Order: sequence, then structure tokens, then C-alpha cells
Amino acid sequence: MAVSTQIKIILIRFASMFCCSKKSKAIFYHDIHSDQRFTNMSTSVELFKKHIQIIRESGHEIVSKISKETGQIEISFDDAYLGLYCNFNVIKELDIPIQLFVVSSFLEKDNHINKTQLLELNKSDLITISSHTNSHKILSEIDAETCRFELTESKKGLEELLDTEVNSLCFPEGKFNNQTIKIANEVGYEKKYSSLPGFYFDEFTQGVKKRSLVQFAREKEFKAILKGGDHILSLWYKLKHFK
Ligand SMILES: [Zn+2]
Repeated sequence: MAVSTQIKIILIRFASMFCCSKKSKAIFYHDIHSDQRFTNMSTSVELFKKHIQIIRESGHEIVSKISKETGQIEISFDDAYLGLYCNFNVIKELDIPIQLFVVSSFLEKDNHINKTQLLELNKSDLITISSHTNSHKILSEIDAETCRFELTESKKGLEELLDTEVNSLCFPEGKFNNQTIKIANEVGYEKKYSSLPGFYFDEFTQGVKKRSLVQFAREKEFKAILKGGDHILSLWYKLKHFK
């Protein structure tokens, strides 16, 4: 484990000693795996189940859309890797709603969920499909016209494929700026998910939600994140992600 990661974990656990919050929070992963791994960002099914157990034992409920100030957790997966499809029985067994952020042009790419599989997942009440742009370009590093294309193309493509409205977006690599927010609002995204740690209703700006990445968190780190221990890294993430 890299030294910077170890320092981060120590800071999160230390900060959580001063937190006792049960405020609602969005958390996210990239994939889950049992035997075959489709990305090095994937979480083992074993660890994922442990997280769900911790969430439930801490008295939180897992919901598809947070509506209460406290006690609710929203779970999302970015990039639509194939492991989620292959292990969807785990999601069903745990009976947890999840939001899947899909990069529309990745639907035919190796190691990713394809259109047929996405249509199959979309039939489940446990899945909400949302946009992660058309081709995963870093939105704060492209011009306005390209950004508008990335956001419009993905929304339109997914809506046509799934025959449902797509109103949420998450930023590739969590990176965004004021231009990104403005265009996302104009294109019609009500909710924009960042990767800045924070509680759900503690928005970065109107409609820009905070989310905590938990994909490799061991038991104690995960418990610390649920309480808001990772908010100590907010400023560092803001400097890295908002440009
Ligand atoms: Zn991504």
C-alpha cells in the first residue's frame, strides 16, 4: 500500500474519532468481483458484503434516492464494468438499490457491460441507470462545445436505449468546474455527483452532490468514512477536482 494511502487512512480514522454523525451519505465503487476481475478498481464480493453488513448494523438504510437528512446511504457504481453484471446475484441477494453511472460509448468496450446486458439490468427495480458522459473525457479540461456534446450525447443515447429519463450525471475522475455545472444544468441534469467527500445534503453548490469513494476501505476505515471521517480530506480533493 502506498505511503500516501496509509496517511489518508490514518487521517480519516483519526478525524472520525471526533465525528458521531449519522447524516445521509452517498458512497461509490467501480466494480465487484468474485473470481474474475475486470478492473483493478474492483472490490471483492466479500469486502462489498462486509460494507453492506456494517451499513445495516450501524442503523442506516440503503435507498435508491436519499430523502432524509439522516440515516440513509445511496450506493453508486461508476463506469459499468462487467463484474457488476456477472455478480448481480449478489446485489439481488443483498437486496440493495444501486445507481449505475454508464459511459455510453464504453457499452461495446472490453470488460464493460454491453447494451443487451444493460437492458437486462434495467429491468430490475434495484437499478437506476445514469450518465457518466459519452466517452469519459475530463470535463474541466475540454472546451464548452465538446463538454455539451459529451453530456447531451450520453443522455440522449441512454434515454433512447432504455426508454426512460436520465437526470443524473457523475463527473469522470470527479473533475469539474463552473462551466461543467452550467452546461450540465442546461442539458437537463438535475443531480451532478462529484467525488468530493461529504454528506449528501451538504452540497458543493446547488445540485452538485458529494460522494465518498469506498472501494478499498477495510472495516475500520469504512466505519470511519460512514461517520464523516473522510471529510478531513475535502480541501485536498477540492484543489484536485475543481478547476
Ligand atoms: Zn469513471
